[in-house]
Amino acid sequence: MRIQLVAGNWKMNGSLASNQALVQALVPALAPLNGAQYAVCVPYPYLAQVQRGLRGSNIALGAQDVCQFDAGAYTGGVSAAMLADFECRYVIVGHSERRSVFGETDEVVAVKFAAALKGLLTPILCVGETLKERESGVTEAVVARQLDAVVTHCGVAALARCVIAYEPVWAIGTGKTATPQQAQAVHAFIRGRIAGADRKLAEGLQLLYGGSVKSGNAAELFAMPDVDGGLIGGAALSADEFTAICRAAAARETTRV
Ligand code: PEP
Repeated sequence: MRIQLVAGNWKMNGSLASNQALVQALVPALAPLNGAQYAVCVPYPYLAQVQRGLRGSNIALGAQDVCQFDAGAYTGGVSAAMLADFECRYVIVGHSERRSVFGETDEVVAVKFAAALKGLLTPILCVGETLKERESGVTEAVVARQLDAVVTHCGVAALARCVIAYEPVWAIGTGKTATPQQAQAVHAFIRGRIAGADRKLAEGLQLLYGGSVKSGNAAELFAMPDVDGGLIGGAALSADEFTAICRAAAARETTRV
């Protein structure tokens, strides 16, 4: 059975002082929320600080990117082994901001996905279409292409060790959320496409929705049969908002039939 996961993506936000306040608020707030899983994906310089702050809690640590190479002359790179050194469980791979701002192609994302797995991290693979692509009716084709790049490079079995986040680019940071039905339709498409290669694997795969999730819309999104939690950007920077979203995921677990 799949379990709901709520992962915060802090993006390039935070400071030693604000991180400390956020983590100190989240740890006790999420402690009683049994049933679901929680994580925060933080900027590299703060990994050690947040690792310390989360120790003994039910919140896992993650990063937001990983270098595709193992070690050596790659100035600025951070390897999967380095992330594992800080007890990261998750790493976001292929976020739309990495794709559009930093020029990461489907192929680079696939190689980074493989590097994360090799370092025993769980990649959170982001896929999703732009507004123009949605309006042109190619949402499924875009998502399929992004998924297929990873399957071609790593094999379908590798997906058993990842989380997939459907993040429509038009909903990220815009305040415009996909309706639960829009999210469900793409999630069902993703699961169905993977089921075509391996049904059991597809049934167990955690599929998160990301894009302007907040306390006010989390419960209805998480109620969809193929939505297994969320990847949360802006709302993850507020302890109250993130806690409320986590509470919605935990509540969903208690009502699952
Ligand atoms: C994200 O950055 O992954 C994201 C979903 O952002 P937001 O929740 O702010 O739309």
